Amino acid sequence: MNEAHAPVRLLIHGASGRMGQALLRLASERDDLVVVAAVSRSQPAQRVVDGVAHFAVAELSGAPEFDAAIDFSLPEGFDAILHLCDERRAALVSGTTGLEAEQREALTAAAGRIPLLWAANFSLGVAVLNELVERAAAALPGWDCDIVESHHVHKKDAPSGTALALGASAEQGGAHPRYQSLRAGDIVGEHFVQFTTLGERIELNHRATNRDIFARGALHAAVRLAGRAPGAYRLRDLLA
Ligand code: NAD
Repeated sequence: MNEAHAPVRLLIHGASGRMGQALLRLASERDDLVVVAAVSRSQPAQRVVDGVAHFAVAELSGAPEFDAAIDFSLPEGFDAILHLCDERRAALVSGTTGLEAEQREALTAAAGRIPLLWAANFSLGVAVLNELVERAAAALPGWDCDIVESHHVHKKDAPSGTALALGASAEQGGAHPRYQSLRAGDIVGEHFVQFTTLGERIELNHRATNRDIFARGALHAAVRLAGRAPGAYRLRDLLA
């Protein structure tokens, strides 16, 4: 939270999307933050909804002062919100997946000037799953490691950012993960990690049934991140 312990002023980027809508709904239930701007790709039908000012991306530079932005948009929209946070010296929490290598590099560079957190997944369960996967991989040298992820049909990137993060954990433990992606119906997000050798198999599974878990994690992280020193923070740094 900021120094005066006033509510953290939040900008939500990607406000009209599935995650944006969950963020706006859950933000309205908290008294440690206030949403001062909601930004979507296109011109909003209504300027002010439930006391929150809505903006189109083209109007981003005219957004009011804010302490932290939460970004759940698409890679096409990411550069603009990173630039705005950098310019305003505001914190950035981003869960946008499918970023290009140059965008990841820009994130790393901006961490020298503003506090920021990018996470492929804001659920506590997946944070624990990452630790389990790394431990299993380290304990099972030579076993096959397969990661299968399932999401709703509208998801653009594959493998999911979470699958790639789980793969990175597996690699930390010395495994060489392979990926499979399924796109079906309205699945919120499922990640299945399997370690197999001759005659035996370990299966680790995480199912998200409601995207509110991601929104809650991101709101919590934004309140914790606002006003901190510049740097690239991890979700686990901000959970306590
Ligand atoms: P969505 O398609 O429902 O919403 C996308 C939002 O981004 C919309 O508000 C749209 O107006 C906005 N947008 C699109 N192009 C834009 C642009 N060029 N500039 C600014 N805004 C733009 O998507 P969603 O399901 O809400 O997911 C959003 C992102 O969050 C995806 O990358 C998804 O993979 C990711 N996600 C991450 C987590 C996590 O825990 N890290 C969880 C769920 C989703």
